[in-house]
Amino acid sequence: MTAKLPRLDAAKKVPKGDLLLCGLTMIPGVGPVQRNAAVAIKSGRLSAIGPSAEVRARHQDLSAFDAHGYTAIPGLVNAHTHAAMGFFRGLGHGQDEMIESFFFPAEKSLTPELLEPLAYSYLYGGLLSGSTTFGDHYYHVAGVAKAIDRLGLRGVVGETVADLGGAFPGRKGWEEWQRTIERWPFSSRLSPSIAPHAADTVSPSLLRELATFAHSHHLPLHLHLSQSSGERLRVLKREGCTPVAYAERCGALTSKTLAVHLVTVDSDDLYILARSGVTAGHCPASQIVYERLSPIDGFLKHGIPVALGTDCAASNDSADLLAEMRLTALLAADRGVPLAQRGPAEILRMGTLNGAVGLGLGDDLGSLEEGKAADMVLLANDLTTEPDERPEVNVLFSHASRNVRHVLVDGRFVLFHSQPTLMSVSDMRAAYLEAVSAIYRRLGR
Ligand SMILES: [Zn+2]
Repeated sequence: MTAKLPRLDAAKKVPKGDLLLCGLTMIPGVGPVQRNAAVAIKSGRLSAIGPSAEVRARHQDLSAFDAHGYTAIPGLVNAHTHAAMGFFRGLGHGQDEMIESFFFPAEKSLTPELLEPLAYSYLYGGLLSGSTTFGDHYYHVAGVAKAIDRLGLRGVVGETVADLGGAFPGRKGWEEWQRTIERWPFSSRLSPSIAPHAADTVSPSLLRELATFAHSHHLPLHLHLSQSSGERLRVLKREGCTPVAYAERCGALTSKTLAVHLVTVDSDDLYILARSGVTAGHCPASQIVYERLSPIDGFLKHGIPVALGTDCAASNDSADLLAEMRLTALLAADRGVPLAQRGPAEILRMGTLNGAVGLGLGDDLGSLEEGKAADMVLLANDLTTEPDERPEVNVLFSHASRNVRHVLVDGRFVLFHSQPTLMSVSDMRAAYLEAVSAIYRRLGR
């Protein structure tokens, strides 16, 4: 039946508007893999999913394509990024006390107008590897939001706030961020989060204020927590308890909290995290570079949901969440996590639905289900991925960013035949390199 349809892999023009894709191998993220499946997209939503013949019969009005040869997965959710830190690429490795001695001094040279071009490199890398949503946490984050918007991507962005450390200690950034939230200037694909920097850099009164604001405005709270030995020691000395216990005491741990890294947690901390309902943000490559791997086995044993992120170019030079998923699967196996908790479906959930839930968008994103936003990645099956007996295993262990052919956000192709549709790569590169040069000049490099 689908043989008469134009083939998506031969399409020259970017398809626009409502759409029907037939013949897909579909890994919806919820429920079993579907072969020869079709998806109908209307007004940016997934309006029908099911067997190709059936869905096509009900949607004769839609512009239809034969998408045989593609595996569809939900758009990946990179739960924790600092996309504008591309200018650190390659420089962070081998630095001691990286955050305090290296990040903060360099970040003092950032000015708002540099943020949008600085974010292009990491966002483009993320898009090429299938990420549609970015949970970004940074200074002058409105510039990052602009870059996310221009590429047609989705973002939950939070201005990094700290009053006891960081690049810009004080309340100025927080006060500006509250004004930005009140007159939100971005599209519906962008939403705000409240983003305390970490337990050692935010005072109890400010952390309570941020947690109360997030709660009263129904916004996600996205923070680094227990991310280094230094942070743990400073909080123990200052507050007499661990960073996790401190965050709980300040009301910062709820089911709308994404607590990232948790590298230095102890067993009592794991009980606190489990009963609070937080999502653990896990960035394995970054954690190994700047401290050590967080206890993913402990999270899973305590039933704490895990969402994956790539962090930033200083500690994880690539924004490739597919690669991070593979790394997580291997490290979880090495740490003795039972197969039932680290099978392909569970790892895919860490790169999709768990991140969406952690960022407060679980009802709308993270799986291919009718009614959800049409955020979807089409991976091209090829000589490197056949046979296709277990597509969900292949996605994890055979597919790579080279197979990411098309990416849709809200039903719009933002990557088509591996090219961004809304911005030119050469323009992004020129603007990015100019911004990097400006920073390097300020740093005297
Ligand atoms: Zn981070």
